[in-house]
Amino acid sequence: MDAGRPLASAVAVADGRIVSVGSMESMQPWLRRYPHTVDDSFADRVVMPGFVDPHTHLRMSGTYMGLDYVGPIDSAAPTCVRAGLPNRDAVLNQLRALAAEARPGSDGRPQPVTAWGYDPATQNGHLDRDLLDQVSDVVPLWVVAYAPHIVYANTPMIELTGVDEGTDLHGLGRYADGRLNGWFVETAAVRAAFKPVAAQVYAEGFGREAIDRMGAVARGAGVTTTADMIWGIESFDTEWDEHRTAIDEGTFPLRLSMVPFEAALRRTYGTDMLAYLARKRTESDDRLRTHGIKFVNDGSYPSMTLRLGFPGYLDGEVGLTGEIPWAEVYDRMLPFWTNGIQIHSHANGDETVDMTLDVLERLLTSHPRWDHRFVVEHYCLSSPAQARRLAALGGLASVNAYFVRYRAQMHADAGFGPDRSEATARLGSLERAGAGFALHSDFNLVVTPLSPLLVAEIATTRTGADGTVLAPGERISVDRALRAITVDAAHVLRRDHEIGSIEVGKFADLTVLADDPYEVNPSQIGAIEVIGTVLGGERT
Ligand SMILES: [Zn+2]
Repeated sequence: MDAGRPLASAVAVADGRIVSVGSMESMQPWLRRYPHTVDDSFADRVVMPGFVDPHTHLRMSGTYMGLDYVGPIDSAAPTCVRAGLPNRDAVLNQLRALAAEARPGSDGRPQPVTAWGYDPATQNGHLDRDLLDQVSDVVPLWVVAYAPHIVYANTPMIELTGVDEGTDLHGLGRYADGRLNGWFVETAAVRAAFKPVAAQVYAEGFGREAIDRMGAVARGAGVTTTADMIWGIESFDTEWDEHRTAIDEGTFPLRLSMVPFEAALRRTYGTDMLAYLARKRTESDDRLRTHGIKFVNDGSYPSMTLRLGFPGYLDGEVGLTGEIPWAEVYDRMLPFWTNGIQIHSHANGDETVDMTLDVLERLLTSHPRWDHRFVVEHYCLSSPAQARRLAALGGLASVNAYFVRYRAQMHADAGFGPDRSEATARLGSLERAGAGFALHSDFNLVVTPLSPLLVAEIATTRTGADGTVLAPGERISVDRALRAITVDAAHVLRRDHEIGSIEVGKFADLTVLADDPYEVNPSQIGAIEVIGTVLGGERT
């Protein structure tokens, strides 16, 4: 991934960093001068730079995986694989069984059923209060969608949240007649829905178990660096300390950038928020560091809550903005922008991409800044014109391209309509416009796996679920796709000077493969076996 010196047969490492890249012969000037050992255990393997997934939620999703599961695909729970449920009726039956087993809490009332993984597009439509009341109008039912942008609740659960018909809160869903429909959409409302079950969801030790479990999943996929894109959703200090302990105890074999969620940071630290980040920077090192700031400005792709421009959703839905009103986004971003902090701004729908680019242009005009690396996160539904504008403004995109394989064809007739669904993740347009981009998984908060090699395959082939090539002009080359999971992903996290390629001076982070992704048929890249990873010169 060093384009100038793309191939090598030997790497020399000292103190966790790369000393020389080339052949045993070319590095003799080093080898003659210093004692060394030769490790040829990867002699018949292909060694790539360690993969970088620049947008995951390992701790939060690992926590969800401990809840009761009602999702559509088989899912690895802490102790077993739990079977997916094909449709909404199967989910309602499962909830009925769970409600029947609900135990009384300390107050004698039945404890809430907490379930994770619902997927409205695959499982025949959203849940709502009336449907859940038919399951039980006594036991509180709390179901979070696979992408946790929406929680569904029945009447007893709504009562526990303290929300009532008169409550004015961003993201509270209502029926056409104005009655609460049991939906809590986007972070402000989801937070209200979380309060009465937080102790249950974040049971003691749970976060740490999640970190260890999901860290192992990421390592298995060849990932050596990732970014937690919603640091602070439970507790800034708890989350930081758990990752630090897991790294110190050797159970988390990754480098991690913790990206604070702006709404939580401002709520928790108010006018001290920049000082808190400055303090965390002094506690940062090459394994764990604070990086950037995260904004969320619309809903999710799989739960069909993103914001679409004309002609909108098939059935007239409108999606939802994040908890920050769009008119205030510029003012909320400004203190980070002027303090040189990199902005990562979630925009799934094309209407949100437009708003985001408007704000970026305003920031640049009022306070010019170079090498700002403003990142549009997800960039799922977009236009070629938006790619050109993003490039002109110096912005980057971190794209979820897994959806091309796992969701796009489904959403042609559910939510977004055929045109936008087919053109999900317009990587070809980004390349033609000259915009930098990375590929990410958002794992495990969308209904896709974590596999950088697989997403590189999807970006290269754009084959949908049934094998049809979707929007062929949006395909990119194998080389560009592999850059997007290594050095270009490191660029998005402002780490390309230290990771992302096998280059003198960088950390010796390697991913070892059974086959060469440049040599196999592109449709087989995702099937290449990951033999293992090396972090700072040490096998993990
Ligand atoms: Zn995310």
